[in-house]
Amino acid sequence: MSILVLADLHEGQLAGATAHVVAAAHAIGGDIDVLIAGEGVQAAPDAAAKLDGVNKVRVADNAVYAHQLAEPMGALLVELVGDYTHVLASASTTGKNVLPRLAALKDVSQLSDVIAVESADTFKRSIYAGNAIATVKSDDTLKVLTVRTTAFDAVGDSGSATVEAVDVVIENTQSSFVKEELAQSDRPELGGAKVVISGGRGMGNGDNFKLLNGIADKLGAAVGASRAVVDAGFVPNDMQVGQTGKIVAPDLYIAVGISGAIQHLAGMKDSKVIVAINKDDEAPIFQVADYGLVGDLFEILPELESKL
Ligand SMILES: Cc1cc2nc3c(=O)[nH]c(=O)nc-3n(C[C@H](O)[C@H](O)[C@H](O)COP(=O)(O)OP(=O)(O)OC[C@H]3O[C@@H](n4cnc5c(N)ncnc54)[C@H](O)[C@@H]3O)c2cc1C
Repeated sequence: MSILVLADLHEGQLAGATAHVVAAAHAIGGDIDVLIAGEGVQAAPDAAAKLDGVNKVRVADNAVYAHQLAEPMGALLVELVGDYTHVLASASTTGKNVLPRLAALKDVSQLSDVIAVESADTFKRSIYAGNAIATVKSDDTLKVLTVRTTAFDAVGDSGSATVEAVDVVIENTQSSFVKEELAQSDRPELGGAKVVISGGRGMGNGDNFKLLNGIADKLGAAVGASRAVVDAGFVPNDMQVGQTGKIVAPDLYIAVGISGAIQHLAGMKDSKVIVAINKDDEAPIFQVADYGLVGDLFEILPELESKL
């Protein structure tokens, strides 16, 4: 077996997700290479070379890969895929954008959102918003997988892989990068935060999210939200946790004024400790909560912040 892992990059640096995808590659077994494709990625190859069990880091550093657009990235992978038996990426927006293109160009099926490896050709993935687990076996000679990073513990960083440049440049006439609008925040990134505090419709309006911000600052937490408040325009959609938002699995998840619809649970129920604050003691969120506080969030949150 020989596996190629497409690395996630964040502002040219190696994103934490890659160490989780390499862990999934370990579970499959065989030689593991990591592909870094981007522009000006000096630090990322060295960081990838340190990931445990990585054999070789392949680096395609060119302006055409600057924003990891699906068209040049898919074509690059087709060029590089050679004898690899598996290509893995995280189930991030980039992985979900690039790998289906590779799968289509190679005429194989993609396996999305893999949460466990049974063997080199058999994987588990969650379906129906996490309410059922499908075990799927692929007969394709090339397996193309996106991996749910929260399901695999990150590998360590005591490796020493070799690093080699890839000089394949795919001109891209099909798509172009226009602009990126990023929310500026000193708080940790929602997907990788160890503590997340999320607000739902019970918050009443976007202004009241400042009640969560104060607690988040004290706990070093990221702030998330239910879809109801995103749809209502209280907060931006990059804060959404759930089936159609981000999947998180922090050490501590605090759900405030969130009822616990299955689509929300799909994004947070693997959190290690779940705390729910809700005035309705029959809210479904209490069925998954380790600790529940029944009461009015407008009284509980200021008290919680002052005690912290
Ligand atoms: C295809 C599909 C995909 C979806 N994807 C997502 C997703 O990714 N993420 C997601 O979150 N949802 C998603 N949803 C929506 C989901 O079904 C729910 O509608 C949504 O999660 C409800 O959000 P909520 O819990 O904030 O609101 P509500 O269900 O209205 O709950 C509000 C809660 O606040 C409590 N509350 C009110 N006032 C107070 C107070 N003063 N103090 C304490 N508690 C209070 C209430 O008791 C209630 O439990 C999806 C739905 C569909 C159909």
